[in-house]
Amino acid sequence: MSNHDYDIGIIGGGSAGLTIAAGAAQFGAKTLLIDKEDKLGGDCLHYGCVPSKTLIKTAHVYHLMKNASQFGLPRHEITPVDFRAVSNRIKSVIATIQKHDSVERFCGLGAKVEFGNAVFKNEHTISLNGKDITARSWVIATGSSPAIPTVDGLEQTPFITNREVFYLDSLPKSMIVLGAGPISTEMAQAFCRLGSEVTVIQRSGRILGKEDRDMADAVMQNLASEGVKYYLNTALLSVKDLGSMREITVKLKDGTTEIIRAEAILVALGREPNLKGLGLENAGVEYDGKGLKLDSRLRTSQKHIYGAGDVTGTYQFTHAAGYEGGVVLTNAILHLPRKADYTFFPWCTYTDPELANIGMNETAAREAGLNYTVWTEEFKMNDRGLTEGEGLGRIKLMLDRKEKPLGVQILGLHAGELIGEWVAALNGGVKLSALAGAVHPYPTLAEINKRVVGNYFSGKIFSDKVKKTLKFFFSLRGRACGIE
Ligand SMILES: Cc1cc2nc3c(=O)[nH]c(=O)nc-3n(C[C@H](O)[C@H](O)[C@H](O)COP(=O)(O)OP(=O)(O)OC[C@H]3O[C@@H](n4cnc5c(N)ncnc54)[C@H](O)[C@@H]3O)c2cc1C
Repeated sequence: MSNHDYDIGIIGGGSAGLTIAAGAAQFGAKTLLIDKEDKLGGDCLHYGCVPSKTLIKTAHVYHLMKNASQFGLPRHEITPVDFRAVSNRIKSVIATIQKHDSVERFCGLGAKVEFGNAVFKNEHTISLNGKDITARSWVIATGSSPAIPTVDGLEQTPFITNREVFYLDSLPKSMIVLGAGPISTEMAQAFCRLGSEVTVIQRSGRILGKEDRDMADAVMQNLASEGVKYYLNTALLSVKDLGSMREITVKLKDGTTEIIRAEAILVALGREPNLKGLGLENAGVEYDGKGLKLDSRLRTSQKHIYGAGDVTGTYQFTHAAGYEGGVVLTNAILHLPRKADYTFFPWCTYTDPELANIGMNETAAREAGLNYTVWTEEFKMNDRGLTEGEGLGRIKLMLDRKEKPLGVQILGLHAGELIGEWVAALNGGVKLSALAGAVHPYPTLAEINKRVVGNYFSGKIFSDKVKKTLKFFFSLRGRACGIE
């Protein structure tokens, strides 16, 4: 019998912490969940996935309204966006979801929730609001924060991050977005669609660095066609506050400098783990700038202290936090050794159209030194895409040398939903022939999944060898028509 106050204590009530607390309490463990804010839900609910996807939907509707004539509808005078109303919608969606993440719900499940800053005193004890609390196992699930670069003048200039961008009082007439990762790209498109003049500053020569170049370039071209201005290979030299405007000085690829002004600066240059102030040194827990140092069972250098979610520094997504939460539960509560396995890990960037991935893309396969083949199918060949007015994008199926799937990428309308079929197929070890033989309703976007597998098989099925064999057995006589 443990003489600790709790079987498990979880620091951080976001996606990872909530998963672990709900599971542990339901398994019958005496569970404590701590968050430093006065509400549960973490970044995803308050400053991440939920507000961003709500904003993206609003921006999409406004974009459709402005482009109604493309659908054969009458043109309308469209009035400018009242961002306060947009923000109110965001808040109301959050409030609805907040009920699932309420203290009452967790108490009902059997978990005690406390608010305050937890600091480790030793490997089993934390101090919280002046009290010492012990637990047999601890989980660090404190998430991440926007990384703020050291740039001349930035500290003295008001700028926004994901914590402020969804709660602005008015729509900025112009916005400089620093960085071109998934968050920056989603926000650049959404604000551009809502009516801001958006300029993206990116140090490297491309956007969405973890995606394949062809897919990322297609996203960028689409955003540029909607009005987003890109400065690639551009270094940020300094920032200045001009009162109602902000000014940045950048160095372009050719070495010249340029001054750009905008009403708002959004800093979205990556994330850093929230590990400062936790007293990890007192508990003997090792970490570096990327996050906690963990083994494959997500244990820190202290085997009874686990890490899950953005603090792991691996895949910084809500579904990764949830998955890692499950791995921690299995190890810490059920005491069954379970390793985290990211082989067929999916993710999606919610631009319009969306860019979704599962498993390896070409960039990852090349880095791993693998031989692979790529099979593609274009959305312009998908009837449903065309009826929806969305012919942009493609699917890429990557096979290894033994013709087993390495991964799939989809750029297209609702790609995040379409990747679901591959989540099931790849994790379930479904054969490509089963996917090729399956019937999809017509017309659906998901037919593209079957078509790309069909492209792989058609080379084999309609080969000269097969044709010759059929000719021999069934006396087939060949082409009835051909273009001269
Ligand atoms: C703009 C934006 C959009 C995003 N969109 C998506 C998306 O569409 N899909 C997706 O999968 N992911 C998305 N993400 C990422 C997603 O939000 C994170 O991966 C996810 O929230 C990580 O969960 P977590 O539990 O690790 O951290 P969090 O959800 O941030 O939770 C950490 C919690 O720990 C608390 N905490 C921190 N320090 C302490 C302390 N010392 N003591 C006590 N409590 C503490 C915090 O208050 C917080 O509640 C997005 C992120 C951003 C910023």
